Amino acid sequence: MKNITEGIAMIVQEKVNRGIDADINNAKLVLVGEGVFPITKDAEGKAVHELPNTGLAISGTIQGEGKLAGTPSLFVRLASCNLRCIWQMEDGSFCKCDTSYASFHPDDKKAWSIEAVIETIKQNIGEMKHVVITGGEPMLQKKGVAALCRVIKEKLHLHITLETNGTIFDKDVAKYVDLFSISPKLSNSVPSKEKLHSYGEEESGASRYHHEVRLNVDVLQSYIYFANSTEKDLQLKFVVGRIDDAKEIKRDYLDELVAYNQEDIMLMPLGAKTEQIAKSNPIVLHQCIQNGWKYTPRIHIDIFGSKIGV
Ligand code: SF4
Repeated sequence: MKNITEGIAMIVQEKVNRGIDADINNAKLVLVGEGVFPITKDAEGKAVHELPNTGLAISGTIQGEGKLAGTPSLFVRLASCNLRCIWQMEDGSFCKCDTSYASFHPDDKKAWSIEAVIETIKQNIGEMKHVVITGGEPMLQKKGVAALCRVIKEKLHLHITLETNGTIFDKDVAKYVDLFSISPKLSNSVPSKEKLHSYGEEESGASRYHHEVRLNVDVLQSYIYFANSTEKDLQLKFVVGRIDDAKEIKRDYLDELVAYNQEDIMLMPLGAKTEQIAKSNPIVLHQCIQNGWKYTPRIHIDIFGSKIGV
């Protein structure tokens, strides 16, 4: 009797696996720019560049921010975002999303099969152990991201960081991720008419309305509970450039959330250029020291400036 039950269970599991494999085979991801970067070879192993944008004769770069700053990694950049961030600095100047080619204008987007992404990672990963899924907002494509993360884990056994703005949670993605790198956006990121016009952007539906979703405490709480119950790592990285930002972080986020780890709260200086970061640094450092929060650098900007694909 036991053998018959086990046999049925195996057949059912096999059918489930076949269904999941079919989902993976059919899944597509819309990536932007180079998609997988920085690389020196395509999915078939043919050379694509003499030098990637890093200027190095090797695939890969380092993670520039957060707990894993300095860690050799390959990045996968997904197209589109549900936000359109433009910040104002303390001196009154504006600072637009540093990946606006993925959020405001993902014109250079292309559909990739999961297999093509995996093969490209395989050809370029070398001795690196880390893949970073970023955007735009990768969770807008949660079905494809879940399929990709499953294959990265099962076939390539790599560490996965998910970089997200924390507005969408999905268990099917979360179960394959090792580090949730969440960057919730403060009210300073909302793109006012004046900010949009200064960058020649239209006050279109996306820019006007999408920021209604920027603050979602329930979603952040889901990430925190999930990370705690599965012993996965998490960081809440706030972009800070104004003196009052700490008050907002406490009032709108930390006073509303429970069960987070104080060590996971990080402030990151606002800026897409070294001179902007230098202006934000004293404000960020003051707030970190005053509140016992960690400072995270943005090493890739120090090293590569505002180049894309690095
Ligand atoms: S959430 Fe991130 S990717 Fe989206 S617009 Fe804001 S800074 Fe850019």
